[in-house]
Parts: sequence; C-alpha cells; structure tokens
Amino acid sequence: MIVESLLKPSLASRRDTVPAGDYYMQVVKAGQTVRILDLEGNQAADTLFYNADDPSERYSAIDTIREQANVYLTAGTTLQSNLGRPMLRITADTCGRHDTLGGACATESNTVRYALDKKCMHACRDSWLLAVAENEHFGLSKRDITHNINFFMNVPVTDEGGLSFEDGISGAGKYVELFAEMDVIVLLSNCPQLNNPCNAYNPTPVEVLVWDAA
Ligand SMILES: [Zn+2]
Repeated sequence: MIVESLLKPSLASRRDTVPAGDYYMQVVKAGQTVRILDLEGNQAADTLFYNADDPSERYSAIDTIREQANVYLTAGTTLQSNLGRPMLRITADTCGRHDTLGGACATESNTVRYALDKKCMHACRDSWLLAVAENEHFGLSKRDITHNINFFMNVPVTDEGGLSFEDGISGAGKYVELFAEMDVIVLLSNCPQLNNPCNAYNPTPVEVLVWDAA
C-alpha cells in the first residue's frame, strides 16, 4: 500500500547515510519515527529490531505474519515482538512491499545460491555480527541474530509455496517509515550482495532519518 509521509527531511533530528556493506545500529525512542530511504534504488536493507530495555524481546516475523494475516509488509503493518507486543508501525511506504520470509544473505547461503567460491564474500550476517561485536553496550551476541525484514526486497511466494527472489520494485528515493511504539534498537545491514541480479550487481547506500515525537 503506497502511503506518502508528511515529514520533512529538513526537520529530522538525525540523518545517517549507510554505505552498501555497512551497518546502522542505533536506538530509536518510543514516539520517534524512523525512515529508511533507498537513495539509488533496488537496494536491500536487512533489518532486525530489539526492545532497547530488554533485547531478549525482538522482532518476530512469525507473530507479525500471523497477526496481520499477510506475508508481505507495507503501510499499516504492525511489527510484533516475540512476546506478541507491537514494536513499530509502518506509517508510510512508497515502495509497497517488503519481505520478511527470505532471511538475510550469509556466506553459507551465498555458496548454496551462487557458487562455492562466493563463500568468502561479505554478507549481511557478517555485518550484523560485526555490529554486535563493536557495540557491546547493547548486550547482544551471535545468538540474538534472528528473524529480519528485508526492506525493499521483492520475494513473492510462488503457487507451489516456494520463494522467488524477483527484481526489485523499489527505485531511487523510495522509502519506508516506521513509528516506534517502544524504545527499539534498529540493527540494519545495508546489503553488500554482489551476486543477486535484483540490485543489478550494484549495492548502493541508504539513508536513515529519525524524527522526534511530534
Ligand atoms: Zn544481504
């Protein structure tokens, strides 16, 4: 569902450009709004969310899909935690579809999906592991890397019940915006994937903007 935001980038309290292959790990407070902006188009932003007060509560794809009775995420979706509580609401979306089934790229999936010699290539899971290692104050570890959302990824479910990784439907300047219902840690890996044709083998930066509560 396409819903445009009324928030002006010039009034954002925080703006960070995240290069492809890099990560973003920040707390977004309850009442703040966070926008992930696809600067050049067809990028994938592989994102995890945790309750900042107790990171053992985190985004749950299973609970989110069940509660909204839809496997795709877009404006109107409430992201549910593993404790069945609302974490964030998608309040604006100019892309229209985001995946939460496909999971993030890992060196293992690179070898299965592409070729054995791709194993050494950088993957989203590496970015998350680096992020938790470089940000010990959040109290996260490897075991906390769980379900994620692939913002801007188009991963339709086929008639046979499989997943197909299709060309992206995002474009330069498209964004998704989320209102935080609790203080959340946003852990985003801006995908470094060079093997997937959906980004034309050219990963590009995203921008993360945060607005304070109105
Ligand atoms: Zn990735």
